[in-house]
Amino acid sequence: SKMLWNGSIIDRDSLIDIEDRGYQFGDGIYEVIGVYDGNFFMLEEHLERLERSAKEIKLTLPLHSNDLIKKLKQLIEVNQLKEGIVYLQVTRGTAERGHHFPSNNTTPNLVAYTKLEETMKKEEDNGGIAVLTEDIRWLRCDIKTLNLLPNVLAKQKAVEHQAVEAIFYRGDIITEASSSNVFIVKDGEVYTHPANHYILNGITRRKVISICKDLQIKVNEETFTVQDLFSADEVFVTATKLDVVPILKVDDKIIGTGSPGKVATEIIRAFRNTIEEMIET
Ligand code: PLP
Repeated sequence: SKMLWNGSIIDRDSLIDIEDRGYQFGDGIYEVIGVYDGNFFMLEEHLERLERSAKEIKLTLPLHSNDLIKKLKQLIEVNQLKEGIVYLQVTRGTAERGHHFPSNNTTPNLVAYTKLEETMKKEEDNGGIAVLTEDIRWLRCDIKTLNLLPNVLAKQKAVEHQAVEAIFYRGDIITEASSSNVFIVKDGEVYTHPANHYILNGITRRKVISICKDLQIKVNEETFTVQDLFSADEVFVTATKLDVVPILKVDDKIIGTGSPGKVATEIIRAFRNTIEEMIET
């Protein structure tokens, strides 16, 4: 298949030098953008977040947003991607190894490629289980950086327990999960961690919050504790292409009735409608 390499669409081929700063330091940022029936979902929001991540790590993107949008659309077209994701990453470029930023004539490496991925309909309909794990990440979780070792270790723990996610706690507070945001429902109201430096402000999270508003479900962007999670009526996680997945059990504790809850089910239905509308227009 083809990949995007800075401004050009070329054969997928490794061009990455062993001294790429992403490879050596995790010195870069990324995005995962969902594709549904050949359409990008919330592409502008993803690229805005990419620009924000770039700014926060003092990296200048090699392409302007409008050019990038054009190229990404071209990429899914030439690869004929219907269902899946585009993975996009930008590193600080290739330079002789040294922790400090390389000289100004070093250009960033932007790559993007497509990946076939089915929708997670089964998980959305049936739910899944989760495990808890300590949030040992740094304090800039709002930046979507390539430094994912704590997330890797957390997700591995989930897999070893046949769980869909590992949910992070920092002290008493639930922050998010290894690659998704966490929501709980209590007495008909929804709670999710505020969008600050402790979490990544998920694009799916934002969509779910706006769907709740449309459905007149109250959303509280407030912290909640591990105990609140265990005693919640419902728990669900959100992420690109995963969409919204109900969590039925966390560690050994059954959540609510142990089956997908009313609120999550309503949100999932509305989320699918949003995607359908996008595909039609
Ligand atoms: N939180 C973390 C740590 C993530 O890695 C991700 C996505 O991969 C999310 C949340 C969900 O973000 P989004 O909905 O933009 O995919």
